Amino acid sequence: MFNRRKFITQSAVAGAAALLVPGEVWSAPFQEDHIQPLENNPIVISTWDFGIAANAAAWEVLRNNGRALDAVEKGVHVPEADVKNQSVGYGGLPDRDGKVTLDACIMDEFGNCGSVAALQHIMHPISVARKVMEKTPHVMLVGDGALQFALEQGFKRTNLLTAEAEKAWKEWLKKAEYKPVINIENKNFSPRKLPGNEYNHDTIGMLAMDAKGNLSGACTTSGMAYKMHGRVGDSPIIGAGLYVDNEIGGATSTGVGEEVIRNVGSFLVVELMRQGYPPEEACKEAVMRIIKKKPETAKEIQVGFLALNKKGQYGAYAIQKGFSFAVCNKESQDTLIKGKSYY
Ligand code: ASP
Repeated sequence: MFNRRKFITQSAVAGAAALLVPGEVWSAPFQEDHIQPLENNPIVISTWDFGIAANAAAWEVLRNNGRALDAVEKGVHVPEADVKNQSVGYGGLPDRDGKVTLDACIMDEFGNCGSVAALQHIMHPISVARKVMEKTPHVMLVGDGALQFALEQGFKRTNLLTAEAEKAWKEWLKKAEYKPVINIENKNFSPRKLPGNEYNHDTIGMLAMDAKGNLSGACTTSGMAYKMHGRVGDSPIIGAGLYVDNEIGGATSTGVGEEVIRNVGSFLVVELMRQGYPPEEACKEAVMRIIKKKPETAKEIQVGFLALNKKGQYGAYAIQKGFSFAVCNKESQDTLIKGKSYY
C-alpha cells in the first residue's frame, strides 16, 4: 500500500543524493549556516578556545596545499603537548588511580581510520592512532597493547602526569566524589579572543578540508577527569567522537562521552547532513536525541557537536551554554565562535 510518510522520506533521500552534485544544497527549511564558498577552501575548525592555537598549526599544512589528514594530526599536536591544557595529552588530569590515560582517533578522506584508547605514557596519541590506521590491519588498539605498539613504532615513553595535575588529583581524592562534572566554561568568553591560561576542559575535535576539497578529522583527549581506570569515552570511538565521510562531511564531539556513544553521535550528525541538514541543524538534532532520551540527565551534563560539510559550511550545537569553536580559513586565522545551545 502506498504510504505517504515513506514517500516523503524517500523524496528526502533523493534530495540528499542531489547534495552530491556541486552547486546544490538543500537548506530551505533551515536557518543558513556559516557558508564557506568552495573556492575558498581550505578550512579547519576545532572545538573550544584552544582550537585557535591548534588550527594555526593545521593551517600551516593547509595553506601549503598539504593534505587534510596531515593538517589535523599536526593541529591537535598543539593541545596534546600543551602542559597548561589539563584535558588533552601531556598535563591532562589523571583517572581516579592517578594515571593519565589518553583516547584518540583519526579518520581520512578514504574512510580509513585508526584509534587508541586508555593509552599511557605517550605524548601524541593521535600519531599512534594514525600508525594503527596505516601500519596495522586494525582500527583500534587499547591499553598495554596500544603502548607496546607505540613503543615498537619508536614513540618515546614520557611521564604525562605533571605536578599541577597530581596536585589537583590529590585534592580530588580528599572527597573522591565520582560524578561527571559539568564543564567549567570560560566566563570571559568573547569572540575572537585568543586563549590565555583558561584551558579547563575538554576534548579537541578537529575537522579540515584541504585545497583539493578532501576531508579528514582527529579527536584526542585525556578523557573525563578522575574517571575509573580503564574507562573509555567517546573520543576514540569512530562514529561517536568522530566521523568523516568525504562525500558528505565530518563531525566531532566533546562532553560526556557516554551519552555520545549511546547515540553514536558523530555518525548521526554526518548521516543527518547526508539527508540535507546543514551542519548546525544536524548538530542540534543529535543534541536533541540526547535530551529527549534523558531529559533529567541532560540538565546536568554538557555535550557539544561540531560539523563541517563538503561545501565548507560549518556549525555546532551543545546542550549547555559556553561551547566555543575555532575557525581558520583564508579570511581569518583566529575566529572563535560561541556555539548555540539548548539551555
Ligand atoms: N568526551 C570526552 C570523554 O568523555 C571528554 C570531554 O570532551 O570533555 O572522555
